[in-house]
Formats: sequence, C-alpha cells, structure tokens
Amino acid sequence: MNNRRHFIAAAAATAAAALIPLRASAAVNRVVVVGGGMAGATVAKYLRLWSNRTLDVTLVEQNPTYVSNIMSNLAVTGQVALSSLNFGYAKLVSKYGVKLVTASVTAVEPAGAGLWKVTTRTANGSVGTLHAERVVLAPGIQMDPVPETSDPTRSADILHAWIAGPQTNQLRQRLAAMAPGGTFVMSIPPKPYRCPPGPYERACVVADYLKRNKPNSRLVVLDANPGISAEPENFGYAFGTLYPSVLQYVPNAKVVSVDSPSGTVTADVTVSGVTTRQQFASNVLNVIPPHRAGAIVQLAGLANATDQPFAQVWPYSFESVAKPGLHVIGDSHRTAGTGGTGLPMAGHVGNQEAKICASAIVSLLAGKSVDTALLAANSACYSPVSSTLASWLTAVYHYEDYTDPKTLLTSRKFVIHDYVSGSTGVATEALKPSSENFSKMNTWFKSLMAESYS
Ligand SMILES: Cc1cc2nc3c(=O)[nH]c(=O)nc-3n(C[C@H](O)[C@H](O)[C@H](O)COP(=O)(O)OP(=O)(O)OC[C@H]3O[C@@H](n4cnc5c(N)ncnc54)[C@H](O)[C@@H]3O)c2cc1C
Repeated sequence: MNNRRHFIAAAAATAAAALIPLRASAAVNRVVVVGGGMAGATVAKYLRLWSNRTLDVTLVEQNPTYVSNIMSNLAVTGQVALSSLNFGYAKLVSKYGVKLVTASVTAVEPAGAGLWKVTTRTANGSVGTLHAERVVLAPGIQMDPVPETSDPTRSADILHAWIAGPQTNQLRQRLAAMAPGGTFVMSIPPKPYRCPPGPYERACVVADYLKRNKPNSRLVVLDANPGISAEPENFGYAFGTLYPSVLQYVPNAKVVSVDSPSGTVTADVTVSGVTTRQQFASNVLNVIPPHRAGAIVQLAGLANATDQPFAQVWPYSFESVAKPGLHVIGDSHRTAGTGGTGLPMAGHVGNQEAKICASAIVSLLAGKSVDTALLAANSACYSPVSSTLASWLTAVYHYEDYTDPKTLLTSRKFVIHDYVSGSTGVATEALKPSSENFSKMNTWFKSLMAESYS
C-alpha cells in the first residue's frame, strides 16, 4: 500500500512537471515579483543575475523601504532603533537592473496566450497594469483577526508587532510606559507561524528588559502549542534559569478573545487533557494571532482564509500546483503536512527559496526542465535571549522522498539532514546562549540582508 501511494505521489509529480508549459523563447521574457521582502527582493536580484540580465524583472513593492522583521524583537525593547532595520531597493535597481514599481498589487489574472496581467495601485490611487510570462508572489503573511469582546472597533489596538513597522514602535512605547509591577501578556499562535523561534526570542528579551528596568513586573506567555516549538534546549534554559522569577510559561493556551479596554485575554488552557477557559489580566498586551498567506495570494485564488490558508506549490520550483505560471515563495506557501514544501517560514529560508525559484524560472523560460538532483536549502538563525546573549539554530534541507508518519503518504519535499548525528527531521541548536553568539548574530544579519538587498 505504502509503495503504491509512493508510486502515485511520484507519478503525480512527474506528470505535473511534464505539464509545465515550456515556452518558446520570446524576445524578452518578463517576470513580475510581488513584494520586496526577504524572498521577493532576493528572487528579483537572482532572476537578473542568473539570466545574464536577459530577463525583464519588475519588482512591485507597496512600501518605499523594507523594515526587517529579523532583529525587530530588539526594537521592541529599544535596544536597536527600528530605523536601523530599514533596507532600500536602490541597489537592486542600479546594480542589477531590476525595475521597481512602488505600488500595491491588487489583482493577478490570466491574460491569455500564457501571459499574466498584474494590476497595481499607488498610494495616491493611480492604477497601472503589467504583463508577464511568470509572476512570483512573495507578499509575506496576513494575521487572522482577534475577536474583541467589548468593542470590535478597538481590535486594531491589539498589537501583534509580527510584521515589523508601526506596531513594533507602538509595542516598544507601551512596554516602556508600563509601570513597575505590571504584567505583560503575550501569546504564541499554533504552528505553522512565521519564524518558529521568534516568539520565544521575544519572550526572552522582554523578560530580560523587565528584569533590568521594571522591578516586580511579570511576563505571561500563552503558547497555543504543547511546548516550546523551536530551540527547546536554549529557550527552556532561558525560561527556567535566566527568568524563572519573571516569566510564567503556559503551554496549550489558545487565545479565544480579548477585551481591549481592560486588557484582559481569555484563553482555553488544556492541562492533562482537560480544557478550562481562563482569563489573564495585562497592563501591556501582545497577541500574535494565527497567520494566513498574504492577501494577494488569496485574491489570486491560490489560498483561502479558512481551510487552505497557504498556497500549495511544487517545492523544486515554487510554482503553484493550481495555477502554473504563478510562483509563491516566502511565508505564503504551505510548509508542513500534505502538500507542504517542508521549509519553515523564515527570512533566511525565504532567501534560499528565492534562489531555487529564480533558477527554476530561468530554466523553464529557456525551455529546459528543472534539475532537482542536488537541490538543497540551508537555514541559519540567531536568537537574542537577553541584551547580551544569543543562541542559534541551523538546518540543511534536502529535496527527497518523505513518508509522513501519520498519513503514510510519500511525497518529495525538503527534509532536514543533520550531518553530525546522521539523523533527519530535527534542526541543530547552539549548546548554550553566549555573548560570542550575540556578536556573530550581528555579522550573520548584515550578510543575510546584504545578500538580499545589495
Ligand atoms: C520578530 C521576528 C523575528 C524574526 N527573526 C528571524 C530570524 O532571526 N531569522 C529568520 O530567518 N527569520 C526571522 N523572522 C522571519 C522572517 O522575517 C520572515 O520569515 C520573512 O520576512 C518572510 O519573508 P517574505 O518575503 O515572505 O515576507 P516579508 O519579508 O514580510 O515581505 C513581504 C513584502 O511584501 C510586500 N507586500 C505584501 N503584499 C503586497 C502587495 N499586494 N503588493 C505589493 N507589495 C506587497 C510587503 O510590504 C513586504 O515588503 C522573524 C520574524 C519576526 C516577526
């Protein structure tokens, strides 16, 4: 049975690959990239580089400057200025010849003859149209709304600060203004969510800040997951050894609603299989809701807000399974489970996906098939756990057959390999947080951002 499923899955992948339309080379092939974040900026750059600048590449980004999510937890505590996390698009234009349109993409539709029509709208309302042989969608994520019990109009007041920008500054201001002895409550959504270690990283740096600046204050972490979902050794050490008097960790705690005026969070908390509805009072509240694909991925018909909130793609090219010609990279495609790529939502991973996608598009537009023989991706990620200490997490992912232990279905996706232990499936984490890691974190961050934006 298992073999047969394997055969069917493999046959389906082969058949789909064979169906990918190989275009006769046009004078100039055009690619439109939607979203200039970690994934979109990188794919635009590498499409130009790896096509020897023969592809016409237009990047459409709604903001004039990108604000990095990476390191933004240190902007919440005020250790770094949010402005230091800004990255512009000038180098992509001047050095690589990417065309830049500062506008929001409002529609992506088939235009016949293998072309896609991309509709754009600028901040002052001007509507434009682009046509392309292929479109790469990299819009990041959207957050599910948080039910607000007393005044739905105040739901915008509930900060996630999980898309770096104005909310990051607002959360910093609220934290700085909190009186000593106050309570900061934050919540972690169920997986999959953007940056698996990120919320634990935030919990650590906020706990560290409270310890140093706000005597007798507390941090309550409501985690919808059954336990620490990434770097359990390092964050477990930090929670239990560095912050036991400040931080209360509540696993299996799903936020149900928020009452903004009183700062009360209602959550379903499960202990030993028994679920009770509990209330948590806060002075500062930070709810990170469950995510879904960026709005344009949903508008393009590649995902929906309910049962399939992320787009399904072929992992070797990130081309949509439903709509060939459209590619989805970064945080908007399915990661885990059936039809997932196996790659988590992370900036470094988005950079890797961008290169796999750029290489595939260059091949496909040249009428060649995608070579998957040595396909792999890597990820490195440093996490500050205080103002001076950091840990890290790293993984190498190979594109290969994977049998899901729950469904017994086999598909080709990216699977983690640990070359030291020889095991598969688990990322490697630092032995312990250290100041040396903290300094290496700054080097890693600078080189990753330079890789994408310069
Ligand atoms: C606090 C925090 C810490 C993190 N730390 C790390 C880390 O240490 N390491 C790591 O690897 N990852 C980290 N991440 C995760 C990482 O930031 C994301 O996974 C990554 O940014 C995803 O890249 P993306 O290109 O998919 O989306 P984004 O980087 O969010 O970019 C999406 C872009 O698309 C644009 N856009 C959206 N819709 C449209 C539209 N319709 N038209 C035009 N433009 C549009 C947006 O303006 C944005 O610029 C962290 C995340 C957070 C929140």
